[in-house]
Amino acid sequence: MRPSPTLPDYAAARASFSWRDARTWLPAMPGGGINIAHAALDRHLETPTAEQAAIRFLPREGAAVDISYRELTERANRFANLLASLGLEPGDGVYCLAHRTPDLYAAALGTLKHGGVFTPLFSAFGPEPIRSRVEIGAPVAIVTTERLYRRKLAGWLHRMPSVKQVLLIGEVEEAPPGTLAVEPALAAQSPDYPTRPMAAEDSALLHFTSGTTGRPKGAIHVHEAVVAHHITGHYALDLHPGDIYWCTADPGWVTGTSYGIIAPFTNGVTLVVDEEEFDAERWYRILQDQQVAVWYTAPTAIRMLMKVGPELARRHDLSSLRFLASVGEPLNPEAVHWGRETLGLPFHDNWWQTETGGIMIANFASMPIKPGSMGRPVPGIEAGVARHTGSGIELIEDPDETGELVLKAPWPSMFRGYLHEEARYRQCFAGTWYLTGDLARRDAEGYFWFIGRADDVIKSAGHLIGPFEVESVLMEHPAVAEAGVIGIPDEIAGETVKAFVSLKPGHAPDEALRREILGLARQRLGPAVAPRQVEFRERLPSTRSGKIMRRLLRARELGLPEGDTSTLEGGWE
Ligand code: ATP
Ligand code: MG
Repeated sequence: MRPSPTLPDYAAARASFSWRDARTWLPAMPGGGINIAHAALDRHLETPTAEQAAIRFLPREGAAVDISYRELTERANRFANLLASLGLEPGDGVYCLAHRTPDLYAAALGTLKHGGVFTPLFSAFGPEPIRSRVEIGAPVAIVTTERLYRRKLAGWLHRMPSVKQVLLIGEVEEAPPGTLAVEPALAAQSPDYPTRPMAAEDSALLHFTSGTTGRPKGAIHVHEAVVAHHITGHYALDLHPGDIYWCTADPGWVTGTSYGIIAPFTNGVTLVVDEEEFDAERWYRILQDQQVAVWYTAPTAIRMLMKVGPELARRHDLSSLRFLASVGEPLNPEAVHWGRETLGLPFHDNWWQTETGGIMIANFASMPIKPGSMGRPVPGIEAGVARHTGSGIELIEDPDETGELVLKAPWPSMFRGYLHEEARYRQCFAGTWYLTGDLARRDAEGYFWFIGRADDVIKSAGHLIGPFEVESVLMEHPAVAEAGVIGIPDEIAGETVKAFVSLKPGHAPDEALRREILGLARQRLGPAVAPRQVEFRERLPSTRSGKIMRRLLRARELGLPEGDTSTLEGGWE
């Protein structure tokens, strides 16, 4: 394990922090204004970072390809020039439906350079989720590949009046009518482009939420967000110039953009981009061969590695790792310990949302991890726990009380609205507090503990039961790979707890095991909180961003309508 070059001291960083000062961490654009792409690329051009690899691309097959900051900037510039030559205006929406190749990154940054509003979509989406998102966001251009165009867009895109350009990246055998092959078109463009200075409040990104609790919402983010991306990348992910960094999230989700495109480049690291999906052996090989120092992944991936067992990890040399972080779902204490035992380092959990645009609460490099806790607020962020009163909210000052997690607005990466849903946006605020929709408690040392989403919390015989606590205990059983807990109606208790569990390979879902798991839960949680029922499932329904969809477990259990399932993993294809 390499030591961290500098460990920002948490208390000192918080005490001396102001967002106004933070803006000066990133050099200003020469003529004034701000642009995410300037902070990510242009600013490095006069420094030695220009020749360092910005991207280390690992194609499905074949050797790794390094692309320097200078090369990536030139590619992005050509793309920006192409958009300009096609008549796109600043503020126009550009969607991208593509798998992870360097072209995607150049398109994202080129769009931002030109002042366009970039929306990444997950390439595994089926036609319907793509269509509905195009309808909501009305982009002017769509960047995709020939294959994805033919399979997912060709049938309906002509009915979308907003879409004027369809740009095909990667290899194009024959550009279908109405589309443009990007590669040859870029060759004719200049590698220079004067990045457009934007106002801090100009829109830069439109991100759709994961759809875990319902229909996905389009969250609007502005150029100023880059200040938060940059600083949280440094503080919460311990990114330092020259680090080899791997973020396993796809840019189709906010994590894959904020910390999979923007923060790594503003912080001058080398970003590992893997074209493939999850495969335990391939992942360990990447960590080893690419000498990854900082790794940002998600509980769902960690659980899959845990399921495979520790032997595979032990066959790899993982000594280059310095910092491991996780986001997206609650990280069970079991997973933190597993990291320590198997990879030699614990995972640092951090919490945020599409709406917050950047990490808000984190276990920092410089403070002791509390396994099972999301950590403490990042510098510049004030977080609280609140209860709802008739007229608004009231902050709970006492430690260890459960309430809604709230954040004091504003901060640079805060969303500036839900597209076309002004009323829904307004509902997210009580005065200057942003209401996250998640329940949490804060302990006496200021660490926040996730209880559950407000929608998922179970009310049983006067108790408020957070699914996370119950799931974490179930995960302690050596046979359990994944657990999802819901409340089901009960005449006496109001609700009782039911658990759905998937097992690690080699374990049979029989009655003896069920009793054992129920017994463990009862012993650890007490009879009031422990599940009454455990049902075994091959796998649990989850979003493509890797979140267990408890609302679907519940809907299926109770025979209720399933609602929006556009982000369900494996729901299509
Ligand atoms: P939707 O808003 O459409 O229902 P979503 O909330 O899952 O979907 P995201 O913005 O991708 O969409 O996810 C943010 C949510 O993920 C948080 O509100 C929280 O519930 C959960 N989450 C993220 N990180 C953590 C974490 N470290 N611990 C616990 N929960 C987390
Ligand atoms: Mg949400």
